[in-house]
Amino acid sequence: MSAQRDYAALVQRDLSLDLTRGKPSPRQLDLSDAMLGLPTSHLTAAGVDARNYGDLQGLPELRALFAPLIQVPAGQIVVGGNSSLTLMHDTVVHALLSTLPGGERRWVEEPQLTFLCPVPGYDRHFTICERLGITMVAVPMTADGPDMDVVERLVATDPTVKGIWCVPKYSNPSGIVYSDETVRRLAAMPTAAPDFRVFWDNAYAVHHLTDTPAELADLLALCAEHGNPDRAFVYASTSKVTFAGSGVSFFGSSPANVQWFLANTSKQSIGPDKINQLRHVEFLRDAEGVAAHMRKHAELIGPKFELVDKVLTERLGDLATWTSPKGGYFISLEVPHAREVVARAKAAGIALTPAGATHPYGDDPADRTIRIAPTYPDLDELEQAIEGLAVCVRLVAEELGA
Ligand code: PMP
Repeated sequence: MSAQRDYAALVQRDLSLDLTRGKPSPRQLDLSDAMLGLPTSHLTAAGVDARNYGDLQGLPELRALFAPLIQVPAGQIVVGGNSSLTLMHDTVVHALLSTLPGGERRWVEEPQLTFLCPVPGYDRHFTICERLGITMVAVPMTADGPDMDVVERLVATDPTVKGIWCVPKYSNPSGIVYSDETVRRLAAMPTAAPDFRVFWDNAYAVHHLTDTPAELADLLALCAEHGNPDRAFVYASTSKVTFAGSGVSFFGSSPANVQWFLANTSKQSIGPDKINQLRHVEFLRDAEGVAAHMRKHAELIGPKFELVDKVLTERLGDLATWTSPKGGYFISLEVPHAREVVARAKAAGIALTPAGATHPYGDDPADRTIRIAPTYPDLDELEQAIEGLAVCVRLVAEELGA
């Protein structure tokens, strides 16, 4: 009864809160405002006029800055526009339309294409597959990354399996970091498809919430070591470092893949936005500059993650489980009847990512996972939203059973 009373009171409050997407808050964006006055010069380190066309691969100084951070040699990085998601989407399109190094034909000529999708995972990866006609097969996540016994079996036996989506560090939404052994197995495993690729979306490479950053094994180097040099496609961006709408993105891979990628993108563009690239180099300077900047982000969002953990512990300790990430942007909450909880929250003015979004085809067979994105609201709004969410979880558990 008390859950119903609490829910009625919650609805009465007429809230309008949004926990749907992992956006940086305005205060986080303010951290990079100095960029609006940069660059101070339009000349690159090599004396090239950044205002003009050219430099399709991106400025060497920016590639050198990010090389150690994303574990790709500078010569094997391509700088993209503001969205790494675009790079991922376009890589798949390129693979559909032009044969990959090591491949026998273009993916568009294959009777079926399958990607493995560790779950819970990032919905926009799944959207790319849906749009491009790629069948998705869910693979369970463990505390060390995807269940590698399942992955190894599927890639070894099924030649239609051409890819796997991975968010290896502070994963979206669980915050899990892939163990060294998981990374090694991904690099070493035999695959039935000669042109199988690991889509390594390292979106949260530098997004630590603690003073002890997680270490991630070097997939690209391990792939080369294990005789699969062309297996890894690495992605990253500064969307949650500088400006989510005006950052820079990165594609990194083997020399053969980079050549293949540039051959394709050279038909799309005469050159990237080098002024923005210069702006990022001047603002971030070097790896230590990035680390110092990311500590300021952590100061702003760390308390939000702590708050969510505190409220969930107080309100739902007996009814739900959730992750306590050491970095990244999300918390994964496991509750009974997730779909109904999200619907009740919506009716009370609390917008959550649709239940099921963390799974291919929007289908979470256990109906348990809710992704919480705590970064955008201020602390007060966040507290109201999580308190309200907890009320909804208790209500639904009372009505439908835990
Ligand atoms: N990958 C992951 C795992 C993400 O969580 C996000 C943002 N939510 C993105 C990619 C999007 O990156 P970008 O802004 O570079 O397109």
